[in-house]
Amino acid sequence: MTYPWGDDRPFNSYSGYFARTFGGRMQKVAINAALTCPNRDGTVGHGGCTFCRNDAFTPSYCSPAKSITRQIDEGIEFHRRRYARAEGYLAYFQSFSNTYAPVETLEALFGEALAHPQIAGMVVGTRPDTVDSRKLDMLAALARKKYIAVEYGIESCNDMTLMAINRGHDFACARRAVEQTASRGVHTGAHFILGLPGETPQQLIDQTDTINILPLHSIKFHQLQIFRDTPMERDWTEHPERYPHWTLDDYLDLCVEIVRRLRSDIIVERIAGEAPPRFLAHSQWGLVRNEQLLARFEQRLRERHAFQGDLCR
Ligand code: SF4
Repeated sequence: MTYPWGDDRPFNSYSGYFARTFGGRMQKVAINAALTCPNRDGTVGHGGCTFCRNDAFTPSYCSPAKSITRQIDEGIEFHRRRYARAEGYLAYFQSFSNTYAPVETLEALFGEALAHPQIAGMVVGTRPDTVDSRKLDMLAALARKKYIAVEYGIESCNDMTLMAINRGHDFACARRAVEQTASRGVHTGAHFILGLPGETPQQLIDQTDTINILPLHSIKFHQLQIFRDTPMERDWTEHPERYPHWTLDDYLDLCVEIVRRLRSDIIVERIAGEAPPRFLAHSQWGLVRNEQLLARFEQRLRERHAFQGDLCR
């Protein structure tokens, strides 16, 4: 069976999207551009989001002490040794908030990455309250020449949750940023965390109706991971009842129910995150790799004769 997104996988996968768009697998090369975050430097807040630990996601080749070009060179070499199959590379501005700088600074950083001969496009991870019309116009101009995606951390559609995790912006802010980015023709992605304190599985399933209203092109879901030495670790230790205690099967069931309600045109980039165990406050499900988890998720959809969007309202 071929689904509306053009292949026989029961969800609109990122790899399928890349195969259709670029002719094969694309590898993201992470970059640390030495930018910070308004929720850390006092502009919006201090201390950051309670779950945040950026170094848990930063690869070893990625250092703000190195130029963008050098990080890309070393990143490509790192990935070549690990996975030989990449068709091309995307510069991934990943650490902190990558639109939190004057537009001229951003233009220079992004320009250096896009000028690299092996870079086919760029993904910019950021907070929704750090974009404005000048920055978005600049990204839209770049998007007319190369693949450009902006990936917003939204985390939750629930303002109470966003306040509880010290996010420093509300859902309306995220919605505005997504709408203003997508309306300029820039690929727009979002990141959500499943399992934030106080959110029940039913709330997370119901939240999908709100996500479907956003003009998103792609989405990432992550299970909540509690990192050592974060405010969330302290809260989790003192108030374990606020946090979900899902088995891997529970989590996969939840992802199935969410994806069944998700618009079929939204590309599902991932359903879980992976961080080195040394950063984690506890071992969640043992050492399950993302690919294994995704394979089990896909199998579960097939067993239920279900697919992305089959319950979308
Ligand atoms: S916005 Fe991002 S970088 Fe800033 S504190 Fe929150 S998670 Fe960390």
